[in-house]
Amino acid sequence: MSERKLAFLYSPEIEGLSYPPDCPFKTQRAGLTGQRLKSFGLLGTDGRIEVAPRKASLAELKKFHADRYLQELQRVAGGDLTVEGFYMGLGGLETPVFKDLFDYGAWACGAGLVAADLLLSGQADIAFNLLGGFHHAMPERAAGFCYLNDVVLAGIKLAEAGKRVLCLDVDAHHGDGTQVAFYQRKDVTTISMHETGRTLFPWGGFENEIGEGPGRGYNVNIPLPPETYDEAFLTAFDSVVVPLVEFYRPDVIVLELGMDILAGDPLTHLRMTNNVVVEVLEQLLRFNRPMLVAGGGGYHVENTVRGWALAWRTCCGENDECDFGMGMGGVMLASSEWAGGLRDRALAVTTEQRHAVESELQTTLDHIARQIYQLHGIRLRTGQGAAAPGKAG
Ligand SMILES: [Zn+2]
Repeated sequence: MSERKLAFLYSPEIEGLSYPPDCPFKTQRAGLTGQRLKSFGLLGTDGRIEVAPRKASLAELKKFHADRYLQELQRVAGGDLTVEGFYMGLGGLETPVFKDLFDYGAWACGAGLVAADLLLSGQADIAFNLLGGFHHAMPERAAGFCYLNDVVLAGIKLAEAGKRVLCLDVDAHHGDGTQVAFYQRKDVTTISMHETGRTLFPWGGFENEIGEGPGRGYNVNIPLPPETYDEAFLTAFDSVVVPLVEFYRPDVIVLELGMDILAGDPLTHLRMTNNVVVEVLEQLLRFNRPMLVAGGGGYHVENTVRGWALAWRTCCGENDECDFGMGMGGVMLASSEWAGGLRDRALAVTTEQRHAVESELQTTLDHIARQIYQLHGIRLRTGQGAAAPGKAG
């Protein structure tokens, strides 16, 4: 068992806050994950504590958001949508106007800031803020269910404390708000793996967006083809993300762990199982850095809750052996649902799917190797097939 100190940001106080009932974004997911973890005895015990967040103050929100935008958010939450609000992205299908809009966002951002404080003070090694993950929110614009950007605010706070920060985003959607915040900075590196902007909102996040000025080479996008499956995803993660984490040597990692990467998500087109969540976390845990895990997307509620619970369990260092659905040699023999387990069973990959994903992904990884690796003089290790050794220069 690991000795890591884990903190789960949550308070029953936010349970009354919710998006409109017909909105795919469900605020209940964090609370449901907490309940699941408690039922497994993985939360509320020594070293795995629940910590109440607080609302972020206006002064804190202004570290990223414009004053007039914050004023407008509060106005529309009162039921008053203006033309100015409309031009700030408010009132669309994915940015509905509702009573709790400002409050929920402020709680999520406050939770991110408390999580950052817990890491900075050493009270936690890993802090989960599943209330947050609002990576599309821009300084003056709402988008994709996001109004206030907790990921950016936590990143800024950690950087202000003198830390080298890595914002790693594996949500199915490109972390565009986070990219914008840190595009010209090298003290905060952003890496986003996401379904390609050719087929999914926010329609950007391509591999040639690599940062500007001092931030050049410190913004990395890894667009994934639709239908990307576990093995392809992990090839990209192992061959590109892991060497980059080694190169950037962050003091602290902010991980956006959206569960809309999972097969069956109603809004996206990726085909991963939650087994990749375990692999990603195990790789990151090896770096032994404080880590803030933010929630994000995930529109199939049960899959999302299981994925996040699995992520927490992985951070606890309690893994496969207690999962009844897991067969020998890492092969899933049966659905984990009936066994009460958290892991998904493996999904079959068709030949067509493999061909379509492999060639496109290979091109992307080669491109990243040429640009980013070359810029930093990173040498490829032998056997890193995906990034095509020899082509990286
Ligand atoms: Zn998403």
